[in-house]
Amino acid sequence: MEQLGQPTETVTRDTPVVEGESVIREYTRGGGGFFSRTAAPTVRALNGVSATIHPGEVVGIAGPSGSGKSTLLHLLAGLDVPTSGTITLAGQNITSLSARERAALRLEHVGIIFQRFHLLDALSARANVALPLVELGYGKRTRRERAAELLTAVGLDERQTHKPGQLSGGEQQRVAIARALTTNPSLVIADEPTGELDTSTGERVLDLLVDIADEQAVVLASHDQQALDVCDRIIRLRDGEIDRSQ
Ligand code: ADP
Repeated sequence: MEQLGQPTETVTRDTPVVEGESVIREYTRGGGGFFSRTAAPTVRALNGVSATIHPGEVVGIAGPSGSGKSTLLHLLAGLDVPTSGTITLAGQNITSLSARERAALRLEHVGIIFQRFHLLDALSARANVALPLVELGYGKRTRRERAAELLTAVGLDERQTHKPGQLSGGEQQRVAIARALTTNPSLVIADEPTGELDTSTGERVLDLLVDIADEQAVVLASHDQQALDVCDRIIRLRDGEIDRSQ
């Protein structure tokens, strides 16, 4: 089997997987057009947040709705860039990269799990899991073996050829976990991973995620206490800032 990149390739236990320093992210909302007398309103979603994530850590991002959790998560994943401050992902300052370079960095180093699974309905579980390896140019045999290995690890050995529509919500999220891990990324990002699942299914999915993401750092945003309970530590946000009051 072709050798897949190891998470330790570019980072060691002491090197952060991702680091945000004095991060500010502002969004400009509509209005403020050519004929408008007023400037477009600006929302500051994050106001000077710093966070360092190390390999092997499971870090929760908590806070009320609108506190900036998704914004921080997207920045740490390299999906977005800060208005000011820096995000260093796998040793690279993402602000200095083009969108294309960021996409390549994400493909290699980041696995993302969404609340609504985001699987491709027309593809089997195995093809969904193998998809990131297609983009990385791995051969068919390696892709199949790797996808089968991961589906077995998430307990879906018997569901390899099922399509997402033939799977339960919990099973779909397990496929999404397998897909997030398929490239052996150094960082796994999960945005409300249990938001669509009932309590006991959510608990099993979280245990599995923490269990199989071993060397990887996992950062998960949630307002679900059950999800936060599996984390080694929690970054609490309030109004775009780190809340140190708790
Ligand atoms: P959370 O994930 O904690 O609910 P978000 O990061 O989604 O918080 O949002 C933080 C703040 O930024 C909120 O006030 C939200 O309305 C605003 N915001 C988020 N995304 C956008 C956007 N694309 N355009 C304008 N405002 C946004």
